[in-house]
Amino acid sequence: MPLQEGVQLVREEIILHGVAISPGCIFGYLHRLLPPEIEPGSPITNAQVEKEIARFRKAIASSRRDLKDLQGNLQEEEEVYSILDTHIKLLDDPKITSKVEERIRGSLLGTESVFRQVIGELEKRFSAMPSHLFRERFLDVKDLSRRILGHLRNKSLDLPRKIKKKSILWAEELMPSDIVEEQVLGYVSHLGGRTSHAALLARARGIPFVSGIEIEKEHDGKEIFIDGNKGIVVINPTKKRKLSQEQRAVFSFEKSKDINLYANVDSVKNIHLLSQVPIRGVGLVRTEFLFPSTELFSVSVQEQADVYAKIIEAAGKLPINFRIFDVGADKRNGIFEPNPALGMRGIRYHLHFSQFFRRQLTALFSAAKEELRIMLPMIADLEEVLLAKKIIREVQREMRYEGIVKIGVMIELPSCALMTDKIAKECDYISIGSNDLLQHTLACDRLSPYVSYSPIHESLLRLMKIIVDNAGDVPVCLCGEIAANPKYRKALIEIGIRNFSCALGSLSYSCDNNPN
Ligand code: PEP
Ligand code: MG
Repeated sequence: MPLQEGVQLVREEIILHGVAISPGCIFGYLHRLLPPEIEPGSPITNAQVEKEIARFRKAIASSRRDLKDLQGNLQEEEEVYSILDTHIKLLDDPKITSKVEERIRGSLLGTESVFRQVIGELEKRFSAMPSHLFRERFLDVKDLSRRILGHLRNKSLDLPRKIKKKSILWAEELMPSDIVEEQVLGYVSHLGGRTSHAALLARARGIPFVSGIEIEKEHDGKEIFIDGNKGIVVINPTKKRKLSQEQRAVFSFEKSKDINLYANVDSVKNIHLLSQVPIRGVGLVRTEFLFPSTELFSVSVQEQADVYAKIIEAAGKLPINFRIFDVGADKRNGIFEPNPALGMRGIRYHLHFSQFFRRQLTALFSAAKEELRIMLPMIADLEEVLLAKKIIREVQREMRYEGIVKIGVMIELPSCALMTDKIAKECDYISIGSNDLLQHTLACDRLSPYVSYSPIHESLLRLMKIIVDNAGDVPVCLCGEIAANPKYRKALIEIGIRNFSCALGSLSYSCDNNPN
């Protein structure tokens, strides 16, 4: 059997290493989702043109009906709903629809051939764009085109709706519409990064997802285990693995006696879980993910305040660290620049577009009750903290907010880690963003399916120790993906970290498995 690089055989288990996209661990049965086979359409005559166009329009209408039906069941799930909305809007996009019709008339080629030509051209244009976000958004077009082609062929698609219970779905590249199925327990794909729509949906729904994995046909239907925290897929998991997995879930809660667990919130969809997991608070609200359907520049202050108020309400008395929009690079609102990961990101963006920053602060102050905790992402030096604090104080005064304001700094850059002693004097708490700290310490793109280093690489542990040792009395919490993994936690506890903020989904998973 050909094995891909990085594969190790452990007894009958096959362990595949990929990229962690959405946290959580799950056992299930593999279902390989195959792309539909597309027969080339035959050339048509002038007399057939109108009939061919009518066939295309019918496929568009059926696709619209499909999407509306899907939406009908998903009213509550804002994020999923709005992605399907994007697909419905794309159906009316003249770059696709009118172009296909014009070309059928002009070229006398069958609809399928023309349609694939048009999508192929769009793909070329999207893949030449500098931002991988645009490239990933092309997946929505591809997803939709798969649906339209299915209707053109008058055949139903191999969509997850037809998939058995307890399935874990594998596809070369997962599309948003693959993620809207209840039956599926987890996702594995070969292509696709953390910011694809499919990834956002999986995270919003708390479904584990690992990418960067190829799976041979012969494994279809086999039992598999996926670990969305570590990015691992195991085909034929042994009994021993099942047992140890259960023990690990229990372990995380037994050990939580000597550590404090916090939750990361990325979506309002699962905030009801906040009252169901044993946490000390919300370590990180990724506010940039809370408004999936609207450009962050145009989310009104009121809309923002309503969402923040919902989170405050759901958290009850627990403290909440609202991180200001962490925009740029792999996140939203990135601007075109040669190297976005090292460009206008996080706090740099807010200091540059200070009206944008002030709007969010206004919304946060208007939603806050007795205390508002504001966290600053991608701080590179002290000056940025001082400038941000000045703006925060100004908006606080304008809003006449009389509660307590606590300011936290996210240490995600080595420069900031090395300045911890000075930074700590200017903030109330520190949060280690280990995802970005890993990326920037080892110069290793966090989205790359090709390069990776241990998330507890010695260099990173040394840097984190500098943070812990120099923070003085300022509390330090670690809120990257590794916080959810007890194996890594051990090394982190050894260097003095006691506060961990994990994806809410992974905490609730551990709870489900906690026999107590
Ligand atoms: C991090 O970088 O570790 C972090 C928590 O922030 P994000 O993953 O949202 O960049
Ligand atoms: Mg980060």
